Amino acid sequence: MMLDYHSLLLALGVSAACLMVTLFGTWFSRRTDSFLLTLVVALCLIVSGIFSYSSYTMETGLLRVSVAYTFLMAGFSTTYAASVQFRIGNKPWRLAVTLSVVSAILGLPLFAVGVDGLGLIAMNIGAAMLLIGTAWQYWLARQEAPGPLCGMAILYNLSGLSFALCAVVLIDGAQWVLGRAPDNWAENLNIGVCIAGMTGIGSLSLALHQWRMAAHHRREAMTDALTGLLNRRALFEQHGSRILNSSTAVIVFDIDRFKSINDQHGHAAGDMMLKIFAEELANGTPAPNTVARLGGEEFAMILHNVLPGRAERIANEISRRFAAREIPMGETVLRCTVSAGVAVGATGGQPFETVLGLADNALYEAKRAGRNRVEVAGYLRSVDVGDTRSSA
Ligand code: GH3
Ligand code: MG
Ligand code: MG
Repeated sequence: MMLDYHSLLLALGVSAACLMVTLFGTWFSRRTDSFLLTLVVALCLIVSGIFSYSSYTMETGLLRVSVAYTFLMAGFSTTYAASVQFRIGNKPWRLAVTLSVVSAILGLPLFAVGVDGLGLIAMNIGAAMLLIGTAWQYWLARQEAPGPLCGMAILYNLSGLSFALCAVVLIDGAQWVLGRAPDNWAENLNIGVCIAGMTGIGSLSLALHQWRMAAHHRREAMTDALTGLLNRRALFEQHGSRILNSSTAVIVFDIDRFKSINDQHGHAAGDMMLKIFAEELANGTPAPNTVARLGGEEFAMILHNVLPGRAERIANEISRRFAAREIPMGETVLRCTVSAGVAVGATGGQPFETVLGLADNALYEAKRAGRNRVEVAGYLRSVDVGDTRSSA
């Protein structure tokens, strides 16, 4: 060996401590991704465990090895809890504490009765199981960020296997009672794998955090904050450059006399009305279609694969349901209506913006004709809301 076991152990402890500081700094600056904080706690326990174990390699003692065991198992338990938290977003502490307590109950009596070799075998098996379990959690979550997550799964698995090897070597040598820290090729390999694995896992955890933040910002930039629907930018990003044919319809909705709701009942009442309409719109839209808030009290819906008349029927249905909503406001109830314009792409294809413009013109016609109506671009007739015969 170029470096002795003890120096490698110290190197591992120091790099774990540095990683802990980096992760803490990253978490502290945003405080959103709390799985990073869980990892910080895990590393804090692991660092304490490494330094306790390091002191045990210098000077044997029942207490030292028991303390090292307790810290390391608590650290790996918390690492596992962090991975579950990452995947399903729960609070990690109950799981971390449960696993730590269970591993202490299983392992500490072995040291107490003097079979320290058996205790260390238990520790290596426990660590292997927790690390491989951690790898499994990141692997299950790999959809979110395939590169970093597969990398983490591999590194956690390798670290777990290197612990399993340590157990195998001790079992193979029937070393139930040791009286000192084990010193064999598997232990050296284990330290090497852990140094490399920890460095890799640390940088991948940071990459993952950045990835999540970026995805979060992308989502935020695409979403209308009040209604949760797509915003205008997202709508144009998704559809702006498309050519629509006659099976795709665009519907534009505009709430009627919305300004008077704001004027009479206040802006908050107006906002509530917008949310209620957004709700009706989202509920009334068949699944794979798009709804967006264009701005103010204007909304758009894009319907794919529609037969003639279908878009109009959907617009009518949404208008009818919205008009039927009664919103309690102090002493009175508020009711409101909406107008809509429908346009369908041309047979040979038409740019999205052209179809949107046609729908807008139809909407303008609906307003002019008295509101609370659906008007279809290119049709000579207009359709009264609620008139079910009209769309047959
Ligand atoms: P029309 O029937 O012709 O559509 O009349 P209207 O009053 O609905 O139309 P107008 O475009 O004159 O008024 C829209 C109002 O919507 C004006 C603006 O103050 C209000 N508004 C725009 N965005 C919001 C919002 O986010 N919240 C609230 N409460 N009001 C908004
Ligand atoms: Mg309006
Ligand atoms: Mg308007």
